[in-house]
Amino acid sequence: MMDNRSGKGLSFVKRIYLPRVIGMGIGLFSVMAGIAPQSPPVWVWVLVLFNGLLWPHVAYLWAARSAAPYQAEQRNLLLDSLMGGFWTAAMHFNPLPSVTVLSMMTMNNVAAGGKRMVFRGVLAQLAGMLVAILLLGPGLQLTATALQVYACLPMLTLYPLALGWVCYQLAIKLGDHKRRLSALSLTDSLTGLLNHGAWKDLLLLKYQACKQQQGHAVVALIDIDHFKTINDTFGHVVGDCVLRQLGAELRRNLRDGDQPGRYGGDEFCVILPDTSEAQACLAMERLRERVSGYRNPQLPHLRISLSIGLSPFEPGLVSPEHWLEQADKALYTAKHAGRDQVNFARSEAAALKLAYPD
Ligand code: GH3
Ligand code: MG
Repeated sequence: MMDNRSGKGLSFVKRIYLPRVIGMGIGLFSVMAGIAPQSPPVWVWVLVLFNGLLWPHVAYLWAARSAAPYQAEQRNLLLDSLMGGFWTAAMHFNPLPSVTVLSMMTMNNVAAGGKRMVFRGVLAQLAGMLVAILLLGPGLQLTATALQVYACLPMLTLYPLALGWVCYQLAIKLGDHKRRLSALSLTDSLTGLLNHGAWKDLLLLKYQACKQQQGHAVVALIDIDHFKTINDTFGHVVGDCVLRQLGAELRRNLRDGDQPGRYGGDEFCVILPDTSEAQACLAMERLRERVSGYRNPQLPHLRISLSIGLSPFEPGLVSPEHWLEQADKALYTAKHAGRDQVNFARSEAAALKLAYPD
């Protein structure tokens, strides 16, 4: 928890560093032009130079090295606002440079911490004004010279550009995170195939498409025979390896449009679109043979066999679950007929036709 926070805090500190260097660097022109007519004491000039040139680096190091960078950066932002308030009063509230400094600062605060930060920033600005009035005396300067107008232009143009750029980068990063998270939520972590939920969603889509367009598709349920024994004999690590291998085999041997997933445990599932019974049978026989031919020199006694149940789409199916149930029945029959085989869910007429073609 603590580590997470400091990780989050550090990226926050880094994100603010460049905009602050740019903002303070060019804000320096507006403030110097604004305070010059007031002929302030030397320490004020030193302070303005420190604030404009050194403070961003000091603030960065201070926050980055603190135990809680996020909180430290919030404090730095409040110090920014305090100084902003100080400078507006030191400039005797000259409207153009004052509004420039305060609005840029507020933009920064809202980007960094929303409403709460804006509110606290305004309080800090008011406090800064009070300090300046107490130290330098009050004053009001309501007209801007040409120099002051020009001195504000870099701030008004470049700072929004810098902040907009930072926000844009952040949006890109967030979009990327979102994509990766959503891919992760659809993937089975062991095999990299679609997980149960994602695959069932695809099954529903395929079911609806087949219903509407009289399409052909076959659902296959693939279960490893005696997988429990494999786990018990060789250990779960080998068991996991077998599952991963089967996942890779499915990806390697199926066509591009086929959609394999891990249904759960040692059971896998595939949707074979635009496929006839005979083609699906051939593809699954090929898979079954490949897997039963596996030999591992380190584990010479390891044998893997598959039982596979197939169910073609039929207009009589009433739901995707019904379709899946047919495949499950076919799988059950394959298991009971001795395992290591492919079995079709089919009507008796179709079964006869397959057994005695013509
Ligand atoms: P059958 O031939 O009837 O399918 O027998 P089986 O032993 O394969 O069937 P069963 O469903 O009883 O066993 C599946 C086993 O798969 C049980 C469970 O411990 C194991 N298993 C489920 N998920 C994982 C996994 O992610 N990794 C490993 N190593 N084993 C798993
Ligand atoms: Mg099994």
